[in-house]
Amino acid sequence: MDVESVPGVPSWLPGHLRDGGIEELYPPQAEAVEAGVTEGESVVASVPTASGKTLISELAMLSSVEQGGKALYIVPLRALASEKHREFEQYEEYGVSVGVSTGNYESSGEWLASSDIVVATSEKVDSLVRNDAPWISELSCVVADEVHLVDDSNRGPTLEVTLAKLRRHNPNVQTVALSATVGNAEEVAEWLDAALVDSQWRPIDLRTGVHYGQALHFDDGSRSELPVDSGEKPTAAIVRDTLAEGGSTLVFVNSRRNAEGAAKRLASVTDEQLTEDERDRLATVASEIRETSDTETNAELARAVERGAAFHHAGLSREGRTLVEDAFRDRSIKVVAATPTLAAGVNTPSRRVVVRDWRRYDGSIGGMAPLSVLEIHQMFGRAGRPGRDPYGEALLLANSHDELDELFEKYVWADPEPVRSKLAAEPALRTHVLATVASGVARSREGLLAFLDQTLYATQTSDSDQLEGVTDDCIDYLVANDFLESERGRETRTLEATSLGHTVSRLYLDPMSAAEIVDGLRGASDPTPLGLYQLVCRTPDMYELYLRSGDEEEYTMVAYERETEFLGAMPSEFEEARFEEWLSALKTARLLEDWAEEADEDRITDRYGVGPGDIRGKVDTAEWLLGATERLAGELDLEIAPAIHTARKRVEHGVGEDLIDLTNVRHVGRKRARRLYDADIETRTDLREADKSAVLGALRGRTKTAERILEQAGHTDPSMANVTASERTRPDTGTNAQATNDDQSQLGDF
Ligand code: ADP
Repeated sequence: MDVESVPGVPSWLPGHLRDGGIEELYPPQAEAVEAGVTEGESVVASVPTASGKTLISELAMLSSVEQGGKALYIVPLRALASEKHREFEQYEEYGVSVGVSTGNYESSGEWLASSDIVVATSEKVDSLVRNDAPWISELSCVVADEVHLVDDSNRGPTLEVTLAKLRRHNPNVQTVALSATVGNAEEVAEWLDAALVDSQWRPIDLRTGVHYGQALHFDDGSRSELPVDSGEKPTAAIVRDTLAEGGSTLVFVNSRRNAEGAAKRLASVTDEQLTEDERDRLATVASEIRETSDTETNAELARAVERGAAFHHAGLSREGRTLVEDAFRDRSIKVVAATPTLAAGVNTPSRRVVVRDWRRYDGSIGGMAPLSVLEIHQMFGRAGRPGRDPYGEALLLANSHDELDELFEKYVWADPEPVRSKLAAEPALRTHVLATVASGVARSREGLLAFLDQTLYATQTSDSDQLEGVTDDCIDYLVANDFLESERGRETRTLEATSLGHTVSRLYLDPMSAAEIVDGLRGASDPTPLGLYQLVCRTPDMYELYLRSGDEEEYTMVAYERETEFLGAMPSEFEEARFEEWLSALKTARLLEDWAEEADEDRITDRYGVGPGDIRGKVDTAEWLLGATERLAGELDLEIAPAIHTARKRVEHGVGEDLIDLTNVRHVGRKRARRLYDADIETRTDLREADKSAVLGALRGRTKTAERILEQAGHTDPSMANVTASERTRPDTGTNAQATNDDQSQLGDF
């Protein structure tokens, strides 16, 4: 189908697409148009990775906006929200405004009311609905990206309930769901009352197979030689072979550590093949990576990148990840060893994909479990760059003949699993039952069950007793904890959220987290930061750090030394599982305490065995949970809100109490704040009135930075023209002043 002949889209779109090299729609896109995706019809598109799903959604959203409507694009991960936002910004030149909603859960995002297209995660959309964002009812088109993730037991239920709520709010809304190829796409389409586009088409051929011995064995029965030298690993041999043909390789492994190890080893393969130009370009990328963070992980990444290899996982900072993705896309980096995060939506095609590990550690069974066919096929789908490669190749690795057969059966020839609703799992339902009642979507047990009947779960189950049973357990829990009030009539059981329940729902807390916090706060008189950090860390909303060997003794000691600081009762050592959980929370709390005491990032990553991205993750979550704690303390009329506020600000900026005022000034991160403070500039007011040469001195002579900071502080004349930096800063001493290199100043500014 020619782009010119698509009905319903804005008149500028065909020209714009042609300018971008798109003349013809891909077959699945044409099918979606035939199903009415540009004319307001709901569509589920179940198509392979890299087959142009994004354009299907764009056609839907732009035609909806053209009719005067408003579109919402729901992404599964925060990182993808900014990526999609950037992608859609290309339409702003045609007057289509695009907004992205991330961050703070507890707001209704009024500014988004004027955006034509809004990008947000499902959690964020759920919270916007809870906070009665008025524009939600104006939506005419809702896109759910990666809808197969309703199968994910952690995040799936939120997406599922959110879609049900949006459709209930706006019965005429067009729903467009994009999915990987799954086993039961019809069922998903039935749930969403949508037409189905179910296609196996790919823009570039994909050959899948298994490497075993000295050869590649393909799905079509063919074989080609790929010799492995003695002492060489098969992955290294494949990377070498791909390089010889001028291609790049994406290697999927099952843990961060394995990704780092593999990148380091594979760097010696790529290093031999680099040209001088490539080396120069890689050196630049490596130095950009070093600038983003001063941790050992980053240093290791930069060392691999200089040699043409990289690793990629969620422990890297966002800037680091983007640098790796870009350099891989422009073919400077020849091999990336990644955890499956890279398979989730990030557009990084590669000539060859090697899925080295097809098992992964699964905490719930305490051992290695095989990945699903769907996950493996998603990774496979990254192979082949349209327009560059004749075809893509995706490979698994076998160590024995039996394993070769097994992998063919299990993955190469297998169809992906059906997606299954995980809504009946209790933690998910607990949260959504409270939210559904609090937002007035349901006012009785019966109304609640009727609402739940619109979910995928209901579409998939014939046993309504099970859902009723878990729902009743949830209601009882919420009533017992004073989040809901209920009255039993003869035929109905009415439900109403209490004031506390409303707050909890708006704060986007798991009710169990709220119950834990409320319990800890009662009786607290003068809480310390550590006490508060440990409290929020033991809620189910915080992913705790694992205890490593030796940690149990260490943190048991800390627990007794600082016993008076903890809020609520400490479990007894004899209740082993609970006590261990509690210690994990303490370990996580100690990380936050170190951060708030201005410990360097690399000291923290070392001490706790985490990556820089993890510190950021914990800090963000803690900040949100402490904000919620502050609100709950207010709700309970406790007089400790100021102590909580201070603990939150300290964790937000990673600083001691004395620096909070300074770090409230934009562009002043933890390290800059400490240097300013050491130069006797202790508050925002001091900054406004300070001698400019002292400011410039404290900021190590960085004129631009100094100007921006003075401007933010409200200085009447921030210009640094003709100002020379004063030397009068105190020497770096003590634990608070480990920064000696100004490049690090940005660390606290993230
Ligand atoms: P998916 O979301 O299905 O994984 P994308 O939407 O990211 O895939 O598309 C992959 C690539 O294909 C993008 O670079 C996109 O610009 C390109 N593309 C999409 N549709 C077409 C088309 N009709 N013709 C040419 N290229 C296209």
